[in-house]
Amino acid sequence: MNKPLILVVEDDPPVRNLITTTLKTNDYRYLSAANGEAAIMEASSHNPDIVLLDLGLPDMDGVRVIQKIRSWSNLPIIVISARSEDTDKIEALDAGADDYLTKPFSVEELLARLRVTQRRLAFMTEQVTAAASVFVNGKLRVDYAGGCAFLDGQELHLTPIEFKLLCLLSKNVGKVLTHTFITQNIWGRSWDNDVASLRVFMATLRKKLEADPDAPQYIQTHIGVGYRMMKVE
Ligand code: CA
Repeated sequence: MNKPLILVVEDDPPVRNLITTTLKTNDYRYLSAANGEAAIMEASSHNPDIVLLDLGLPDMDGVRVIQKIRSWSNLPIIVISARSEDTDKIEALDAGADDYLTKPFSVEELLARLRVTQRRLAFMTEQVTAAASVFVNGKLRVDYAGGCAFLDGQELHLTPIEFKLLCLLSKNVGKVLTHTFITQNIWGRSWDNDVASLRVFMATLRKKLEADPDAPQYIQTHIGVGYRMMKVE
């Protein structure tokens, strides 16, 4: 397999160097861009496997870059934002970003995010090839057509909303889904009390799904942001 090609979009030279050095020493190929205009150009001409995108760029908002790329491609985008830019991060996820890293981040964190995204890519390719109507992740099996789910061969007794949630999370495995995205998909709207109900449904779903709901294996919570189903080995 070819080494994955990562497009690094970051205007701050020390951060950009840290990322590209990390990539180089960990067997990735990379391209870099210091602004949004260059990022869009590089993405369209080189078709990278993953984009690492800083949200605070000198010429345009990173969210605008995501919207541009999403107009022609589904390639995974991991956004990088400062801690103070929480709303930007959520806006970026809603615009179609897959995941995020908060500055300052460690090299290990960066590599972990890339691995999650690569696993998601491999998994999606598998699913498309198999034209799967059944989703399998670790001990979890979701039969989309049959409308049922199993854990370790035992049927899970889920309410219709819990099943919808499980389908939505599994169809986006590896991707962080925001509260708004989830409530829009489940209830067709996103009011404050929908987010509160979502929390309740997520807790009951987890009780049925996770061996230890306090140390969840399948569904990760992103406080103030949303949820993600992890690819379980
Ligand atoms: Ca910046």
